[in-house]
Amino acid sequence: MKLTNFTIETDADGIVLATWDMKDRSMNVITVAVMDELDQIIDHFAGTEAIKGCVIASGKDSFSGGADLTMLQASGAEYARLLKTKGAEAANQFLLDSSARLSKIYRRLETCGKPFAAAIHGTCLGGAFELTLACQFRIASDDARTRVGLPEVKVGLFPGAGGTQRVARLMPTGDALQMLFKGEQIRAAAAKGMNLIHAVAPREQIVQIAKDWLKANPAAKAPWDTEGYKLPSNKVYSAAGMQIWPPASAIARRETQDNYPAVRAILSSVYEGLQLPMDLGLRVESRYFAKILRSTEAAMMIRTLFVSKGELEKGARRPPKAPPQTIRTVGVLGAGFMGAGIAYVTAQAGIDVILLDRDMEAAEKGKAYSHKLMTDQIMKGRAKTADRDALLARIRPTADYADLKGVDLIVEAVFEQQDVKKGVTEQTEAVIGKDIIFASNTSTIPITQLAKNSKRPEQFIGIHFFSPVEKMLLVEIILGEKTGDLALATALDYVRAIRKTPIVVNDSRGFFANRCVLNYILEGHLMLDEGIPPAMIENAGKMAGMPVGPLSLNDEVALDLGWKILNATKADLGPKAVSPVQEKILEFMVVKNERFGRKNGKGFYDYDGRNKKLWPGLAKLQKKKLDPDKIDIGELKHRLLVTQALEAARTVEDGVIVDPREADVGSILGFGFAPYSGGTLSYIDGMGAKAFAALCKELEKKHGPRFKPNKLLVEMAAKGETFYGRMAGRKQAA
Ligand code: NAD
Repeated sequence: MKLTNFTIETDADGIVLATWDMKDRSMNVITVAVMDELDQIIDHFAGTEAIKGCVIASGKDSFSGGADLTMLQASGAEYARLLKTKGAEAANQFLLDSSARLSKIYRRLETCGKPFAAAIHGTCLGGAFELTLACQFRIASDDARTRVGLPEVKVGLFPGAGGTQRVARLMPTGDALQMLFKGEQIRAAAAKGMNLIHAVAPREQIVQIAKDWLKANPAAKAPWDTEGYKLPSNKVYSAAGMQIWPPASAIARRETQDNYPAVRAILSSVYEGLQLPMDLGLRVESRYFAKILRSTEAAMMIRTLFVSKGELEKGARRPPKAPPQTIRTVGVLGAGFMGAGIAYVTAQAGIDVILLDRDMEAAEKGKAYSHKLMTDQIMKGRAKTADRDALLARIRPTADYADLKGVDLIVEAVFEQQDVKKGVTEQTEAVIGKDIIFASNTSTIPITQLAKNSKRPEQFIGIHFFSPVEKMLLVEIILGEKTGDLALATALDYVRAIRKTPIVVNDSRGFFANRCVLNYILEGHLMLDEGIPPAMIENAGKMAGMPVGPLSLNDEVALDLGWKILNATKADLGPKAVSPVQEKILEFMVVKNERFGRKNGKGFYDYDGRNKKLWPGLAKLQKKKLDPDKIDIGELKHRLLVTQALEAARTVEDGVIVDPREADVGSILGFGFAPYSGGTLSYIDGMGAKAFAALCKELEKKHGPRFKPNKLLVEMAAKGETFYGRMAGRKQAA
């Protein structure tokens, strides 16, 4: 055998330890070379009498992250090439053959006559977990980092190397479907409880236990290859099966609005597969897998949520010449809602925080937020008291600017008032080192404007967090006119340290994310004014793929904040810059009825604990009421997405977005823009600029100039261009 990714050691009992350890990679992944080697290993072991069984383990700190998704991207490109040159049949055959290969290898491993065991430590996900599912015995270490799971659905795919078939034969169908739909990472003990693995033991013992098991079970077979095997939830066509399948389809549809072809494919693959013997079930799965690989949704989701997200996290936009910045202490100014969250995520990354507010009481209150979050973690069994103590020890509350001396970075999160920010900036710059970067978390004030308060505008930058800080994965970094490379590098290094995903945008009112999402909320207000039933507006948002309807979203971010932003925009840019309809609605809600949103239990909804109901008083905002049966729900969905995507196209034309990856990653992570589309620009690329511009024009005719396609789109439509094609050469243009 010629192996480079695995090393083989055979013990005196003929049990092989195959250690997977890919050189030049920090994490094992499944590549064509790995598949070739697995083929060889199976052939060799099956044909060598002295070998009695094999344990597969990893030589790294993790087992494996699964298949190399760029390999799937490459096969997508080859499919497109064959489609053009050799036609659909040859292209489809290629895709089926290449995508079914891993599944066939695993089945051969499972049935080659020699037993296999997997010793899992660390992350074991996707195609790698499917490898272990094909082994007759699975043991995992009891380490907190050990996680198994099938997260494919999160990038628009599904487990196509036997995962849907084996999981559904190990667990009750309802639980198996939930696991496949959610794609969550599961800790060892929970995985054992779910029957996904057989045993849990300390890391140093797992290989030995696996070897002992193989010795004791030389003729082991998978349960489904053993006579008398019964499905955990009985047959599909049985009384028990009928309890599961009708609600399963309904739940899948409710949760996804049928926007995710992969979810539907999981459902079909399990439903059809469970009615067949294993080998046929695997063939069914492979066919659905090849079909999903061809879907626009999978292509867009893989590109945005795996490839681009990874590239941005690794510093795709980092100025290459700037030396790496080590951030040991961050000064957080303002210990309010945002400052408290920023202090928490910073301390969680092992960085010391000086948390400053106007008085000690406010600063202490901000620190108490970290205490609360850590206590919640302890209650859920995810942290220990010692972790909380260590984290709290890293946060030092203060009201004295002198304590900021010696910090490596400033993140300012005081009131959204220019004069307050000015005073704080001046007092801070008076004590911190001359080369320290100053970042503002402002959500509305242009960075170039705020930088005027600073003596060192090239060291001034925006680091815009989203709320709640501890949950939201995105951070928007904003470059002012004078922001220098070192400020950008420092901001990116900090964001990387706190394990968030950065996008880098140029300065503009609302930056990128808020510009798009405020349009979504505005469209909801306009629909309300038109007389569309509020419940229909909300459902149209969810059906379009948004996490919540526009009215709910407005309640979450606070209506009074919306009212403040509207007034600030009016003051700065004049009355024409705001929508009179929106002004009327917000004034009615905030000023006349003191309905501020979820925060005071009263917004477009009435809140009662966790329950909420649309506020009946909304009727007063609707002079006319349209007949729901006469409203085109498809058009509502289009309006809600197009208004955001069109704004994203405008941010490209304005030069706010210079790299399409950032608009796409930013829109999904920042405000949940229909993830199946791959993000705001992929939504346009996916349907084609021509079709999108035509859709805009149709909406413009009916609903007014806010839907007028911008110059850039018209040009792209005429030339048949995509954002990714057009902007390919302009990446890195920060
Ligand atoms: P907040 O009112 O909850 O907190 C502001 C804090 O700043 C308060 O604790 C206040 O005491 C403190 N502060 C005010 N003046 C000060 C001074 N002179 N010196 C020291 N501390 C002072 O507000 P927030 O929601 O946390 O917003 C803070 C910033 O973050 C704003 O710029 C806001 O636009 C931005 N932001 C907010 C959100 C959000 O969802 N709330 C999201 C992104 C960005």
